[in-house]
Amino acid sequence: MIQIVEERSEGQQSQQFGIDEAISRRWDEVANQLRQEIQQLERQMWQNNVDRMFQKGNGVPKKYLQKLKQMKMGKSNRQCSICCNQFEKDELIIQLPCKHIYHKFCVESWLQNSTKCPNCRADVLEELRGLEK
Ligand SMILES: [Zn+2]
Ligand SMILES: [Zn+2]
Repeated sequence: MIQIVEERSEGQQSQQFGIDEAISRRWDEVANQLRQEIQQLERQMWQNNVDRMFQKGNGVPKKYLQKLKQMKMGKSNRQCSICCNQFEKDELIIQLPCKHIYHKFCVESWLQNSTKCPNCRADVLEELRGLEK
């Protein structure tokens, strides 16, 4: 009795294994294909993100950047809210039309991708255009 059960289960097992193998081989193919498609999509998405992040013309054009008020830092214990470092004496800083100040380097790279003050979200480009009129 026990032997018969064992034989049967063995037979079932090997048959199952055959099907499993075929299925798993098919799955491997499908999975490989999907993996390739996903990789391609990921690459596309990554490229899109990079394009979006470094999109030029998204920020304040250079000719307006030059109009920003540039000055040297005096004694202060305030900090630049872009890099979170304190201003050192004699560092070049830029004051936006909203009166917020940042390191020249920090705010210039910020404004390449945004037209808004990182502190109060005032539109720098609009303000500068307003000054022009
Ligand atoms: Zn800074
Ligand atoms: Zn501001």
